[in-house]
Amino acid sequence: MKEFELAIIHSGFAAGPVFDADLTRVKTDPSADQNESYNPEHEMTLYNRAVDSLDRELASAAEKADRNSRDIYETERLLLKDNAFSETVRELITEKNMNVNTAVEHAGNVLAQKLAGNENAYIRQRSSDITGVTERLLEILRGEGTNTLKVPSIIVSEELNPARLSAIAPSLILGLVTEKGSMTSHVSILAGNMGIPYLYGSREALEAVRASEKAIIDDKKLITDPDEKTYGEALRRMWEENERKQSQKRRQKEDSAGIDEKIHTKVYANIAGTQDIPKLIASGVRGVGLFRSEFLFLDHNGAPSEEEQFEAYKAVAEAMNGKETVIRTMDLGSDKKTNWLPMPAEKNPALGCRGLRLSLKEQDLFRTQLRALLRAAVFGNIKIMLPMVTSVREVEIVRSILENCAEELSNEGIAYKIPSLGIMIETPAAAMIADELAKAADFFSIGTNDLTQYTLALDREAQGLEAFYDPYHEAIFRLIKITADAGHKNNIPISVCGELAGQPNAVKRLIECGVDKLSVSLSKVDETRLQVVKAEAELENRRVEKDAEQSPSIAAPADGRLIPMEDIPDPVFSAGTLGECVGIMPDSGIIYAPCDGIVSGVAQTGHAITFTASDGREILVHVGINTVTLAGRGFKVLVQEGSTVSKGEIVMEVDLAVITEAGLSPMVITALLS
Ligand code: PEP
Ligand code: MG
Repeated sequence: MKEFELAIIHSGFAAGPVFDADLTRVKTDPSADQNESYNPEHEMTLYNRAVDSLDRELASAAEKADRNSRDIYETERLLLKDNAFSETVRELITEKNMNVNTAVEHAGNVLAQKLAGNENAYIRQRSSDITGVTERLLEILRGEGTNTLKVPSIIVSEELNPARLSAIAPSLILGLVTEKGSMTSHVSILAGNMGIPYLYGSREALEAVRASEKAIIDDKKLITDPDEKTYGEALRRMWEENERKQSQKRRQKEDSAGIDEKIHTKVYANIAGTQDIPKLIASGVRGVGLFRSEFLFLDHNGAPSEEEQFEAYKAVAEAMNGKETVIRTMDLGSDKKTNWLPMPAEKNPALGCRGLRLSLKEQDLFRTQLRALLRAAVFGNIKIMLPMVTSVREVEIVRSILENCAEELSNEGIAYKIPSLGIMIETPAAAMIADELAKAADFFSIGTNDLTQYTLALDREAQGLEAFYDPYHEAIFRLIKITADAGHKNNIPISVCGELAGQPNAVKRLIECGVDKLSVSLSKVDETRLQVVKAEAELENRRVEKDAEQSPSIAAPADGRLIPMEDIPDPVFSAGTLGECVGIMPDSGIIYAPCDGIVSGVAQTGHAITFTASDGREILVHVGINTVTLAGRGFKVLVQEGSTVSKGEIVMEVDLAVITEAGLSPMVITALLS
């Protein structure tokens, strides 16, 4: 049993078997070569069988795919049968006596390197196709699928990316341990959405956990090879923690029930695909603020077809039953790469071909997605959102592509609807020209994860620089405020869909900046609703206090003893029908103006005067209970309607004896009418 202390991406507790995700990656055993039973013919037969099997797989995928994906599959088929590749494998097997796995891996590396160095960009891009084909061939040779995980486990790997993580069923992931990682990467966001504990940062720990059958994650502690007693206790604790979490969730759900009607700021959910639909429905959330559609593209051997995408978008829109469903167009590139989409090697991928830039470059792929979205929009309240926008021109180009796709669908007689088109504000450039963008887009959603990365010039995947990645940096809030002000000036709504939206400490500040919606991961919906209630109540209290500070105080209109509102012996006043009141049992008959202002009314019977204070409030001074019956007897009003008065100025003289002799109460009541 060994213990390590690692850096935390998501804290939590987990215990279970260890699954080495890197084992499903290419790995061969050179020592198997050249042994006595080595038979080159047998190795060649295995190779030919694997090629045939992959060829059939690709042909069947091509058959089901749309035009774009079909081309990709066909290219892979050509590469698979490429003479240079098969020839190299044959030579390595027959002349170098390599086993088939080593030979395929070797041939793949040689060819991929050769293509990567070619002057022609198209040929260079084939390099990653070769790598993909090689990896799949090796999986077939080892008799493995892409995912061999069968029981819930702690997943360990040198480094995970979203494509690899989303290939594993969430119910099978108890925890994650990697050597490399970062708090704000997409893998970390995915793990956070699933509520999975995640540790990283040590090669030594990675190697120990890999060699261990079982492991325990306890906050920042990783225990490898636990003894039976420790492991048994850990399993029990995990069960208890799950129970506790479930009941906490249930409590939050109960507390947040019906809250949506009471709050102004809407709480929406972020989702990654149709697998989130059951949780989405259960959350009763008011809308989907971010559907990260690129995950449909990552968890795939090729681009998802128009039909596949249409079905996915339609399913979510229908599940939302008319509620707003914001689907972001594929935000591929940077850390969200796929094997099947060749991308040039970039020095700074986060500053390179990603998001909308990539969509505009790969327009066939983009058009397929837009067509699917236009078709799905018929079935619900879908809105399209563009990632990584930096200029008005980009939005205009997308609008024209969208219209063109619509025209195409119309010519084909396919039903469609053109949805609203919004944009993400993820770059300082977009925030700074939000005024112009607000005229080109129908809504804004602020992606604080990337906005932080680009504003602070700090890669969100940077290792060991977490202390500098500060989403609470004043610059971020100022950019949010600029965006919100520009949006409201142009009557478009503003949401925040980055991780900051679900941070309890940020909610109030975001609402203060003018944000209308917070879109958070499904696991944070209830908690965020409760945070919004609290924040809105605090802001309202602060507003009332500020108003009170700014409003001049109201002076007592008579000297005497104060009587609380509920003790005033006239229900019209004590029940608050006329507004907030207070009574004074007067010592004398002198009545003063309660404020600076103007006399707005004098009762004919002289027993009551209303004033409009300089801040606009209406104040009634009513002398005596039921004194209207005296028909003016005992009252001498010194002002008239329209008179300007100063606070404390004598406005009436009353003969108290007349009132008391008539058996009435002389109580002077001040009521704040508005
Ligand atoms: C963001 O950048 O804040 C965002 C929501 O997009 P993603 O995290 O998917 O890049
Ligand atoms: Mg982003």
